[in-house]
Amino acid sequence: MALIVQKYGGSSVADTDSIKRVAKRIIDTKKKGNDVAVVVSAMGDTTDDLIDQALDIDSKPPEREMDMLMTAGERISMSLLAMAIHAQGVRAHSFTGQQAGFLTDARYGAAHIRSVKPKRVAEVLEQGDVAIVAGFQGINTKGDPTTLGRGGSDTSAVALAVALGADVCEIYTDVDGVFTADPRIVPTARRIPAISYEAILEMAACGSKVLALRCVEYAERFKMPLHVRSSFSHRPGTLVLPEGADPRSIPNLN
Ligand code: ADP
Ligand code: ASP
Ligand code: MG
Repeated sequence: MALIVQKYGGSSVADTDSIKRVAKRIIDTKKKGNDVAVVVSAMGDTTDDLIDQALDIDSKPPEREMDMLMTAGERISMSLLAMAIHAQGVRAHSFTGQQAGFLTDARYGAAHIRSVKPKRVAEVLEQGDVAIVAGFQGINTKGDPTTLGRGGSDTSAVALAVALGADVCEIYTDVDGVFTADPRIVPTARRIPAISYEAILEMAACGSKVLALRCVEYAERFKMPLHVRSSFSHRPGTLVLPEGADPRSIPNLN
């Protein structure tokens, strides 16, 4: 049995129908005999909308309050997703970053993960249920919510996968994987079936934003295999593997 961490980005959970579709996908992965922990982003443009609301009130809102506000987006998606899984007959439990054991430094808006101790997530998996964790958030040593910077749910997913000792961290998005260029801008861009951490980091440095930079650095440091793929299709995505790793050893490839 494999342990799989799946991350669903905002584009994959933009509305309640999408949340139901993602719930089914999670359940299907579980029914294939895997343990599944999920990291979820805020729905669609929720984070942007929250920022706009804050800026409407104050052009320079206090950083602490800004993080308090932004962590609310992922609380909505994590609880709705847990409900959707439950409604389809499988037990699921949602956890905030704090409940999932994400401790960060105190840099509001761009916090760094200090440690991840996902005791409650592990307990839920142990009892055969699905764990859903809010992406992009943790708490600092004062106990205040912090956020990891835009796109930070990717980093949450890799950090959770490392802490749980997962076999793979699957990053679900709205395109079929990592392409030679942004496929929405360059129609001739080709999907890259497998790529090294270094090459992705180079792409990120050139402005490509398919994966958060820190997520790739974290995955490289701990040799966590990544599978970037679409939540809208079952086509193969892009594998990001440590050097010499056998792609056939990665679970849940199709
Ligand atoms: P999510 O909501 O899943 O986090 P993002 O918007 O953060 O999704 O990232 C997915 C988007 O990244 C795609 O819709 C695509 O337009 C963009 N993108 C930019 N560069 C690339 C690339 N080289 N390969 C694939 N997608 C890319
Ligand atoms: N919701 C956050 C953002 O929009 C984090 C993420 O989606 O990864 O940046
Ligand atoms: Mg993203």
